[in-house]
Amino acid sequence: MSEPDRRQMLKLAAAAAGAALGGTAAARAAEPAVDTGTVAGGKLDFPTWTAPTERPTPPPPAPLPPSERVGFAVLGLGRLATEEILPAFGRSKRAKLVALISGTPDKARLLARQHGVAPDAVYGYGDWDRIKADPAIQAVYIVTPNALHREATLAAAAAGKHVLCEKPMATSSADCQAMIDACATARRHLMIAYRCQYEPNNRALQDMVRGGRYGAALLYDAVNTQNMAAPTQWRFVKALAGGGALPDIGLYCLNGARFLSGEEPTEVYAHTHSTPGDPRFREVEEQVTFTLRFPSGLVANCAASYGLHENRRLGMGMPAAAIDFANAFAYTGQRLQIAHRDGDAEAVVDRRIAAKDQFALELDHMAECVATGRRPRTPGEEGLADQRIMEAIYRSAATGQPVALPKVEGLDTTRGPALPPADQG
Ligand code: NDP
Repeated sequence: MSEPDRRQMLKLAAAAAGAALGGTAAARAAEPAVDTGTVAGGKLDFPTWTAPTERPTPPPPAPLPPSERVGFAVLGLGRLATEEILPAFGRSKRAKLVALISGTPDKARLLARQHGVAPDAVYGYGDWDRIKADPAIQAVYIVTPNALHREATLAAAAAGKHVLCEKPMATSSADCQAMIDACATARRHLMIAYRCQYEPNNRALQDMVRGGRYGAALLYDAVNTQNMAAPTQWRFVKALAGGGALPDIGLYCLNGARFLSGEEPTEVYAHTHSTPGDPRFREVEEQVTFTLRFPSGLVANCAASYGLHENRRLGMGMPAAAIDFANAFAYTGQRLQIAHRDGDAEAVVDRRIAAKDQFALELDHMAECVATGRRPRTPGEEGLADQRIMEAIYRSAATGQPVALPKVEGLDTTRGPALPPADQG
């Protein structure tokens, strides 16, 4: 049935119901309103349909037409790229997938068919001349093993492309600096894919920590653990991964403490541990625990392990609230619980914020930076800062002594401008 036919049928059904009620006025009153929405300023909206007692529902998403979106090539088609990033383009509003770059041609061709990428936009790692000449590619999203980020970033920048690079940025601060320099020389953006910084629950927690409502945050504790198999994976090869649990998952605990507070640590004290004889940990550490001290007095206790069951939570202690953030570093399932006094009782508020695809959010931010010239919130300098601290963490673990870090004045010194209020669309 066509849409006009369907509407006519609804009207007739309403009229019939009205006639049964005994009159044309009743029929008009009973006519169902069809919410066709209104278009204004290039956006679609619908009237509010829930009472003021309910939280407002956001307007429909307002994606840019494909011709106005920023074109991305995804480089390195492993688990993260195929399971999370390629699907996220379907939920992005400003980015579009235009090319794939891979060392595995049959996989790349299959994924190109599945995601609507033209066959001639499937490239190999040696095809930089052709990639450079492809005007549809404005940005390259690098999703290879950590030690290969530098080479791909330098090649993409030299080809005149903007770079979105997975975390950890690289495996040494020298590589991070070379990536920053290459993108600066080419006048291209470099953004590190710190997805949590774009995720709405993390952003709400950042507002709570910095807003002062509950007093100054003095205690942060974070755990990121997962039990790993496949000892031959590149994650257990130091030359490719740079380290074990620390750069892969401990980094989330470290970056969380930095971006939630905005401060830079002045001292780190760390321990690493690997189960003797475990084939997974011949080259890289199984577990890292570290304490960071910040200028305000905030202390961050962090733990990451490749040998413990999955757990990705953080807590924040403030004078007037204790916050528990479940699944803080996971792709989904974030849950913020805020315990505070409520009169003579203790209240625990379960703040439910609509879930968003973190990868689509970061893609949209990068696309906006490319389109407007805005500096990314998480530029290369953000990745370099974390890498320097991770190097200090390893030094502390090796010596058993705390390591002092340079004192940095001000907040968010390694970040681009603050993000606008979280987009509800
Ligand atoms: P995978 O091992 O699943 O995939 C890596 C891909 O990189 C391979 O499939 C391959 O793609 C390409 N590649 C190129 N050279 C090599 C090489 N020498 N060895 C292995 N792979 C190679 O890794 P992930 O997808 O899990 O991780 C990739 C990056 O993403 C890492 O930097 C990781 O830290 C980061 N990551 C970030 C997450 C986040 O939440 N932000 C979560 C998971 C990972 P091809 O066959 O196409 O050449």
